[in-house]
Amino acid sequence: MDLKTGMLFINGEWIAGNSKMSISVENPATGELVGTVAEADIVDVDKAVASARAALLSWQESTVEDRAAILEAVCVALEKHSEDLARTITSELGAPIRLSASLHAALPIRDIRATAMALRDVPFETEIGNSLVRSIPVGVVGAITPWNYPLHQVVSKVVPAIAAGCTVVLKPSDLTPFTALSLAEIMSEAGLPDGVLNVITGRGSVVGNALVAHPGVDAISFTGSEEVGRIIARDAAENFKRVTLELGGKSANVILDDADVSTAVKVGVANCFLNTGQSCNALTRMIVPMDILDSVEELAAAAAAKYVPGDPLDGGTRMGPVVSARQQERIVAAINEGIASGAKLIFGGPEVPAGPGYYVQPTIFSNVDEDSSLAQEEIFGPVLSIIGFRDEAEAIRIANNSRFGLGGAVWSRDEDRAHRVARAIRTGQVDINGAAFNPAAPFGGFKHSGYGRELGSWGISEFLEHQSIQR
Ligand code: NAD
Repeated sequence: MDLKTGMLFINGEWIAGNSKMSISVENPATGELVGTVAEADIVDVDKAVASARAALLSWQESTVEDRAAILEAVCVALEKHSEDLARTITSELGAPIRLSASLHAALPIRDIRATAMALRDVPFETEIGNSLVRSIPVGVVGAITPWNYPLHQVVSKVVPAIAAGCTVVLKPSDLTPFTALSLAEIMSEAGLPDGVLNVITGRGSVVGNALVAHPGVDAISFTGSEEVGRIIARDAAENFKRVTLELGGKSANVILDDADVSTAVKVGVANCFLNTGQSCNALTRMIVPMDILDSVEELAAAAAAKYVPGDPLDGGTRMGPVVSARQQERIVAAINEGIASGAKLIFGGPEVPAGPGYYVQPTIFSNVDEDSSLAQEEIFGPVLSIIGFRDEAEAIRIANNSRFGLGGAVWSRDEDRAHRVARAIRTGQVDINGAAFNPAAPFGGFKHSGYGRELGSWGISEFLEHQSIQR
């Protein structure tokens, strides 16, 4: 795959952008140029939407079997190109190459297989009383995605939308556009008809904004920050456009007194530091019994010591740089604010290594005030806050003391107890005792983490309208 193409993908063809301007994509580990992509403008948005509208006419009439077969062919093609994809992800995101291969390039294949399986069970036509209820594609979908899981997040929108019979205009993050452009090429190679997926690279405030306002776009699926999510929800309300919002998180990891504490802390630290802390559902608040705080601190610091930031191309590296200079500055500012708030710094700190690359130190605070900005704001870097609790009720209260509601975890040797606490946590997902991610289950948030769900049959239903015909 040629990373220097810099073209837009519209109606199955690579075309130059209208403005002839371009955006440089930087390698966050070296500061070197990865390549340039076209900076699309509203003329390109019109072209991409027209292409998606034209393709919708036949795609919405395709059979479930046709669509499932293409999704399966896409999985085979993704497997074939997985090494290339992993390298692309490492070059533009900075994720360690081992993680790019084992998670970034591999998880989307599981997402797609789960979607293809769910698709075959969607009741596209059902009868109730004197009604025939049809579930029909919502139409043209505008998908706007962030940089932190540049393939998984794109796949989580594009694949259920096209499974539902919709066509898509995708605007990926301008920090990680090459992964999305590679996906377009792979899906085309796997037999996706021209115009079903169009990819336009550019600035969010121009291209993303134009997609939200465009009368030819029927629904918007957005993953990104709370701030931009609010703008999109407001703009989409102008013309009552359907919106799915996958926003931020500040997820709690509740370790109860009867848990296997050493495993829980080790897994909790690993979860928080995964992808250099750049995961929306990262367990960034570790909530532990007050009377074992000292031993939790020791265990957490020992686990953190294994995360030495390094060259993401080295197979042994567990933590790469963060994605950009801006993210590095934001994370350092949050660490400094944590120190100023009086929280106890037990690992890492705000100093960043000299030299190229946007590295930060994996950092852990203990004795964190549950209302401080350290415990309330999404930092989106490898920064863990440990907070003590006195009893189970207080643990639940602290876990729910967040304006977000995306992920969560509970650890206990007593399964009934773990379930009881999991049910009391107001978030879209809760994992018990380190349970694995399930790409067939709904993913999304409560409260400021957004609305709507991705993955599995729930992901498909976001892109369906329901029509009842009475007879
Ligand atoms: P961001 O909100 O800055 O950007 C996301 C996308 O929106 C980008 O493609 C951007 O170009 C575009 N955009 C920016 N301004 C726009 C506008 N005015 N109109 C339309 N589009 C616009 O977020 P980011 O920095 O790329 O990603 C990090 C954020 O994403 C974090 O807050 C993280 O929690 C969140 N996130 C959420 C999930 C989830 O599933 N809930 C998953 C991953 C990331």
